[in-house]
Amino acid sequence: MNALWSEARVKVSHRLAMHVQLEHFRLHNAAPMVTFTFDDLPQSAATLGADILESYGARGTFYVSGALVGLDAPDWATGTADDVISLHRRGHEIGCHTFSHRRACDLDQESLAGEIARNRTYLHSLDPTMPVETFAYPFGYGSYARKHQLKSEFLTCRSIVPGVNSGEVDLQFLRAMPLIDRQMSRDRIDRALHEALSTNGWLIFYSHDVAEQPSLYGCSPDLMTYAMEAATRRGIPALTMAEAFRCARA
Ligand SMILES: [Zn+2]
Repeated sequence: MNALWSEARVKVSHRLAMHVQLEHFRLHNAAPMVTFTFDDLPQSAATLGADILESYGARGTFYVSGALVGLDAPDWATGTADDVISLHRRGHEIGCHTFSHRRACDLDQESLAGEIARNRTYLHSLDPTMPVETFAYPFGYGSYARKHQLKSEFLTCRSIVPGVNSGEVDLQFLRAMPLIDRQMSRDRIDRALHEALSTNGWLIFYSHDVAEQPSLYGCSPDLMTYAMEAATRRGIPALTMAEAFRCARA
């Protein structure tokens, strides 16, 4: 199959994944919620990012691809297996990406099952008590064909399509806002939190590294602290993905 046709198929699958819901799930959380998520385990997220959350008594969700752990990326130094273990022991949630960070839309049923199983095996080899309950689409690409399969494996799947989740939501395609200096202003953070308050919604942030000079995909400690402070001021608790899901199901 030629590459152009294959990319066109990926886009259709992603758009279908975004628009076609498997089931209608209504959020039943008693109060608005916010979740801070970090993808691909930059070491700075596991240290500085986690420290900022903890200084507010909060915990976050860190989506890990086993094959990337300890492998330095072009944009950041990557955390090690010890960072994953430490995050888990400090009460953060370790979530699942695909093991080798391949996009869900490029995988058939068997290869996605293999990627998930390998990632779970890897994470459980670090600490068998680590629950691995939620998923984030690598590169943000959803897959319509794989949604049923992901639903049977995970409580939630996080996309990078912007928006605040409220009312009826798609648990296999939850919306998320970038906590990324290049893409997000303080004003937009305030507006998103305001929307979460007024709709009793669930605002999910996603980011990568946390550094004074963040990558194109990361945030500064200032921006992250601003978001944390703004949520706290409004009385919106920061919960992990799995915790927020359990509040939403209540
Ligand atoms: Zn990723």
